[in-house]
Amino acid sequence: MNLILLGAPGAGKGTQAEVISNALSIPQISTGNMLREAVRNGTEYGVKAKAAMDAGALVSDDIVIGILKERIAQDDCKNGFILDGFPRSVPQAEALDEMGVKIDKVIEIFVPDETIQARVSGRRVCEMCGATYHIQYKPSKVEGVCDKCGGKTIIRKDDEPQTVLDRLATYHKTTEPLKAYYEKQGKLETVIGQEEVADTTALTLKAVGVK
Ligand code: ADP
Ligand code: ZN
Repeated sequence: MNLILLGAPGAGKGTQAEVISNALSIPQISTGNMLREAVRNGTEYGVKAKAAMDAGALVSDDIVIGILKERIAQDDCKNGFILDGFPRSVPQAEALDEMGVKIDKVIEIFVPDETIQARVSGRRVCEMCGATYHIQYKPSKVEGVCDKCGGKTIIRKDDEPQTVLDRLATYHKTTEPLKAYYEKQGKLETVIGQEEVADTTALTLKAVGVK
């Protein structure tokens, strides 16, 4: 099954993508995580992507589409995958179509903008391995320390309040038209993000037909 997770920054699509990934044993492909890794490693892609990411703007299509193409060509994607953060614009969705990638379902995690600002302020990311946490919804076992590698968990630069506003504006303008794009194909399912992550998870699993 090939799935797309759609949602505003901070709506919790990464968390839900991880849940589906575990439930269906298919990889979660997060372009945001891959780009952050490229930045940490100082690769050519990373160097090019950094300024746009820090500003809360979208990274250029040629970079993101290139990264995505390489990733889904890997062996573990044979039985399906979950795209988390891609496509983020209609041209990116068209690029997927052109690659011949068939999408089965698009799950939108909907959270109102007012809720997002508050949530994003609690997000943390491991500076070593990129694992993501939330001080309230998904805390690490020891505050400030990554469960997976022991690295330090920090606030992402693009999670600063003003940058979040810019990212939300980009989402509404550039990414949200994808809802109509996939609705027309009868593939869109909307999950309303709940106060408790477990409640959202239950709705997401139902939407993909697991429970
Ligand atoms: P969020 O969903 O919380 O905004 P992500 O981790 O998905 O965060 O993405 C972080 C940043 O990475 C984005 O603000 C953007 O700069 C870049 N990025 C990720 N995916 C894409 C994409 N498909 N196209 C362009 N830029 C992207
Ligand atoms: Zn870590």
